[in-house]
Order: sequence, then structure tokens, then C-alpha cells
Amino acid sequence: MNILVKASLALAISFSANWVQASPVENLSAEMSKQIVAAADIGPSSRFDGFLAQTISQDFFSDKPVLVHAVEKYRASKSLSDGELHVLQRLLGLYTRVKHGHDAMNTLAQLVAIPTFRVDGVEQHDNPEFHKFSRALAAIAEDFNLAFRNVDDRVYEVSLKGSSNEVVGIHAHADVVPVTPSLWQLEDGTKLDPFKLTRLGNRMYGRGTEDDKNGIVVSMYAMKVIQEENIPLMRNIHLLVDTTEETSSDAIPYYFSKNPTPKYNLALDGGYPVVIAEKGTGSILANFPERAGEKNENATAEIIAVSGGLAINQIPGASVAVVTTPEPKNLAVQLNKMAKAFVNANGGNFSIVADAREHDVELTVKGVSAHSSEPSGGVNPVSRMFMFIEYTQQKKAVFKFNHVTDAASYIAANWGLDFHGKTIGIDFSHDFMGPLTSSVTLVSQNNSTFTVGVNLRVPVGRDSAVLKQHLTERLSAWQSDKSVALDISIALREPMYRNPKGPWVNALLDVATENLSMPREFGSSAGATSVHNLPNGVQFGLAMPSKKYTGHNANEFKRVEQFLLDLQIITEMVARVGQMPSLE
Ligand SMILES: [Zn+2]
Repeated sequence: MNILVKASLALAISFSANWVQASPVENLSAEMSKQIVAAADIGPSSRFDGFLAQTISQDFFSDKPVLVHAVEKYRASKSLSDGELHVLQRLLGLYTRVKHGHDAMNTLAQLVAIPTFRVDGVEQHDNPEFHKFSRALAAIAEDFNLAFRNVDDRVYEVSLKGSSNEVVGIHAHADVVPVTPSLWQLEDGTKLDPFKLTRLGNRMYGRGTEDDKNGIVVSMYAMKVIQEENIPLMRNIHLLVDTTEETSSDAIPYYFSKNPTPKYNLALDGGYPVVIAEKGTGSILANFPERAGEKNENATAEIIAVSGGLAINQIPGASVAVVTTPEPKNLAVQLNKMAKAFVNANGGNFSIVADAREHDVELTVKGVSAHSSEPSGGVNPVSRMFMFIEYTQQKKAVFKFNHVTDAASYIAANWGLDFHGKTIGIDFSHDFMGPLTSSVTLVSQNNSTFTVGVNLRVPVGRDSAVLKQHLTERLSAWQSDKSVALDISIALREPMYRNPKGPWVNALLDVATENLSMPREFGSSAGATSVHNLPNGVQFGLAMPSKKYTGHNANEFKRVEQFLLDLQIITEMVARVGQMPSLE
């Protein structure tokens, strides 16, 4: 080789080295990750370094000099740029998936087999099944060389140490909702045992496979790999396994009363990619003292009962009223006639039927049930029942005045059929979180009190105290104007909204959306979850918003492919969040 060639070769090398350094490092696409997984061939004794060596020697890496260079630098213990580090974190996730995917499914089966639902009259921390669960986690943690603490049988803590005092809390829960075993049957007749993980095709059936034992398992395998590969972390990672998420929710507050609260928190119990906002919930309970029917022109009928939602968050499918009357047949005819006009005038998407019985009339309003956080998904029969009662009173004095007609005029004047709080003047909307919603839901009757509850879901943008003041003023003005005996109680919870520009939430968003090929957009929720009041709390998966969520249902299942992706994503996420110089 002559000197001239040597010189030009040196130039070419330095040129290519400069080019490698200067160009931004684009991370592995979801497509490329798939190729890596498909090509990987690793055995029980393989380690991350061997996986890296194998991966960069694959054909599909030959035209990816930037990525190869990043891996080579890592293998030579050289310092990496942020972009290069992110590539290695992604590869660590892929390695964990390939190496431990099968084992992780077995661990999930082991945890699903422990029936950790609430037993009446037994506190979760006294329930032997939870003690068994705790022992199982302790054994896994020991096997994985991870620190484990059982905090008074309330919370099980698995941790990884970092180089500072900062703590990131990963939240998952050990408890599950109860099962009705007879409903655990597939369409083809196959019977399932809810507490035995059954793999059929690409699904793993079993209570807790999706909500939320899967979250515990993938986190523990992520931590195991980070531990055994000596990945240095700048902060501590605490997996906090809750035991009361589905019931009293008092285990995590108990834990925080005795342990430091993590500065950053994420829960693996919602939807991908990253939910950074949750509306504040509110309840407005109007308590009407029961009173005997009072003369109303020639009315002889009296409403003695109305049904509504059994809970403040439930818009039921129907509301039923019982009306006593000396002439059931005549009253039913009269009500059905007015019902027809009322239904037609109000959209026609619900029904009202009056049935004459021996001594009374049963009046049924049928709508469409929904969760009160999404009233647009239903047709509320409770508000329609009260509005119809008020309508009949205005049209023609049909019912004697009592607490039910009081409640009907209260609903008509303050809430109406609208579900954005327009009638009472509290309607507003947030660009990202959407509109305030109001749903007339709960109806209850006890201790001589008739109660009607309205559930609010409030985005950010209004001061809660001002909102409460507005509601109080409007409702007391109505009350004194109508001279109705009424006791109102208003409770409002603050909405949650994390800074969408913060590095913490953006790192999470990158990891989730790049691996899942989702649009790079944060999620918002109308319901409050366990992260609502936690510092920098967000939901991070593990359900795909495009797929039907099966948690809480019979035949609950987790897709195998999604479980493996979760394992990969959570590993990458723990490494990424653990290694960022600052999360602020
Ligand atoms: Zn859950």
C-alpha cells in the first residue's frame, strides 16, 4: 500500500468517524425491533453483551453504521451520547424480552394462581392468600437478587438502588376483583378456571392477567436484568405492589405514612402511552326530607319511589318510579300520552312507559347506561325521569307535591338534560382535557331522606373554590326562591394535570410511542386513578387504548404479544428513567 492510499484511507476513516458523531442517532424502529427479536438466538447462559454482539452482526445491521458504532462504544465501555444511550436502553428491553419472555409468563401463572380477591369481613392484610402472595414475591425477589420488603402486609416493595436519594415509584397491584366462576366460559363452551392461567392461542386467560399482576411481573424481570447487567442508575427504583387498589385504597397511604413518598410516580394500571391528565371528580348531593303528598289542584296520584344509579358514578340503563293512584288505568293512559310528546320533543332516543297495576302505576324510563365520566356514551334515564315528572306537572297537575316533585323541579331548574353544566352556568372546556361534564346519577331513599346525586368531572382551568362558591350561591338562591326544604352537600376534587413539556413525561412518551408505533400524544382521562394525588404521577400502560380492556370481566385475558412488548417497554423505561441526569 503506497503512502498516498494510506493517507486517503485515513481521511476516509476520520471522515466517517466524524459523520457518525455528528449525525443524530435515530433509535430502533418498532419494525427493526421485530427483526432483532426474530433473529435472536440466546440460551440460558447468554448475557446482554453476547446478545449485542450477535445482533450487530445480523445482515439488517449492515447499513446501520450509526447503531453499530453505538453498540461497539458501549461494549468497549466508552461514554455514549444521549441518543446512543437510548439505543442501548432499547436493546436492553429487547434482550429482556427474548431472554425472559417465557419465564415471565410462568411467573405470571404462578401469581394468577393465588386468589387475591377481597373476602367479606377479612382485611386484606389479614387474608392468608395475600400472605402467600407476599411469600411468593419475596422468593422471586431473592432469586432475582432484588431487595424486598413486606410493609406490614399493606404494600410489598421491590427495589433497585441508584446513586442518589431520588426515588421513582412504579405502582402495580396484587389484589384482583372477585370472579363469578360460572361466567368463565368461552363461546365454544370451553370452561376456564379464573385462577389458573390458561394459554389459548395468543391469549393468556385468568383473573389478574391484565389487571394487574402482569405489571408486577414485567417490572420484576426488568429490575432483575438491570441488576444482573450492572446498569448504573442515578436514582432508586421502587416497585410498590398495592394490596387494596380494587377496594379501600388505604394501603398506599399507609405505606407513605411510614416511608418516603417517591418524587416521580407511574402506575402500570391504565392505558398507553402516557396519561398525564385526569379530571377532578365532584359530587353534589341534594337531600330532600320526605314529606307527605300535598294537595295540587285535583291531583290524586303520588310518586312514592324512584330508582336511579346505585352509585354516584353510575348512569343506569333505566329509572323506575312507582305512583300510587286510585285510578291506575286512567293515569297510565294519560302518562303514556304525555310521554310520547316528551320523548319526541327530546331527541327520541329513549322510552317512557307507564304500566297500570292493581293499586299503582309503574313508570319506566329506559335510556342507555354509561359510566358517569363519559355521559356522552349513554342516554341518562335518571335526568329524563325527573324532567318528565316536572313536564307533567307543568302540563297538567298530575302528582301531589312531595319530596320527589321537589327533586324534579330542582333537577329541571339546575341541571336539565344537558350534561355539560350549562343550566347551572358552570360549563367550560379545556383544549386537551375536554369539557366539564355533569351527570344526574344517584337516587337513594333512607332515614326519611330522598337524595339525588349529580356527578361532576372537571378539567383544569377553573379554581375549585370559585366553582364551589358559584354552585353554592346558585343552589341556595333557587332554594330560597322556591322555599323547598333541602340540604345540599358539595364535594370537589382537584383535577390532575402534569406539565406536558417536562422531561419525565416526555421520556415516558418516547419509550411508549416509539415501541408501540403510536402517535406521539399524551392521554387524558375523565376518571381519577391511584396516581391522581401522587407527585408527578402518571399512568403508563399497560393496556392498548385501541383494544377492548378485559380487566374486571369474566374471561379476563392478556395477549401474549402485548405482554412481551410490555416486558420490553418496561425494561427500557426503567433503564431510561433511571439513567437520565435529571427528570425535572
Ligand atoms: Zn387495576
